[in-house]
Amino acid sequence: MKDKRELHCSECGALIEDTYFKCLDDCLIANFFDTDEENCFCSEECFCKYMSLEELEVEDNSINVTGQEEL
Ligand SMILES: [Zn+2]
Repeated sequence: MKDKRELHCSECGALIEDTYFKCLDDCLIANFFDTDEENCFCSEECFCKYMSLEELEVEDNSINVTGQEEL
């Protein structure tokens, strides 16, 4: 007997058809998901939105990541 449950994307609510994205990091799972079914996303984009991933611009006084010496 095969238990066929419906999975929905936790961000946009889309029905998952074939494949889905799932977070495998224990820390994130503990912090973000109460149930295993919440850890289910239709796309990487939805996962990023759920995780509040934002694209920011590098500011002048931010950490120097170019490796150039400033002192
Ligand atoms: Zn989605």
